[in-house]
Amino acid sequence: MSFASLGLIEPILQALTTEGYSAPTPIQAQAIPHVLEHKDLLGTAQTGTGKTAAFAIPILQLLASQPTPKKGRRTIKSLILTPTRELAIQIGESFEAYGRHTSVRHTVIFGGVSQHSQVQALRSGADVLIATPGRLLDLINQGFVDLQQLQIFVLDEADRMLDMGFIHDVKRVITKLPQKRQSLFFSATMPPDVAKLAGTILRDPARVSV
Ligand code: AMP
Repeated sequence: MSFASLGLIEPILQALTTEGYSAPTPIQAQAIPHVLEHKDLLGTAQTGTGKTAAFAIPILQLLASQPTPKKGRRTIKSLILTPTRELAIQIGESFEAYGRHTSVRHTVIFGGVSQHSQVQALRSGADVLIATPGRLLDLINQGFVDLQQLQIFVLDEADRMLDMGFIHDVKRVITKLPQKRQSLFFSATMPPDVAKLAGTILRDPARVSV
């Protein structure tokens, strides 16, 4: 199995070669085709399995094939919700690395720091927003985040979101998203409360597990 056989475009294949990735990990091989086919996805995978690339690579490919506006601001087409600042930064680095030869732009927002530079970055426009739930809600409520053009939503580390008490924030964010969207849901474990949350977010999902 190679990345090329998954139908990835040349700019992404080049970036993966630069990263030193020679072949997809099992979660990537399973997940990428479903995401490229616009399917919802329920993924059971721990950190360390390559799950970030399993969603970042196909999202970059789907967005790279859309025209970028010549005039006017980029609108957010994909939202990645993740529980911690560290994970948000890491996911941002992954989009940076895999998307370096595409025109897709991302920005990262998280709590615990001044919102000023994050608001500036949102103002200058991004295609992909990577966020922790509390700061995202703050910025939505202040009118700095427009999710009306959202196409692809990712809930990362759902079990940790629940453990950290973010369930209400996550549910509130979901009420701000367009109904018609693709949703990807990742969790290391799938206890009943996590499975129930997945059921409220996903429509006829493909299931992948490693
Ligand atoms: P993650 O599970 O997303 O936290 O990724 C774990 C680590 O695996 C990260 O350091 C990635 O850079 C690395 N990685 C992801 N996919 C691949 C791949 N296909 N080949 C080699 N390394 C990878």
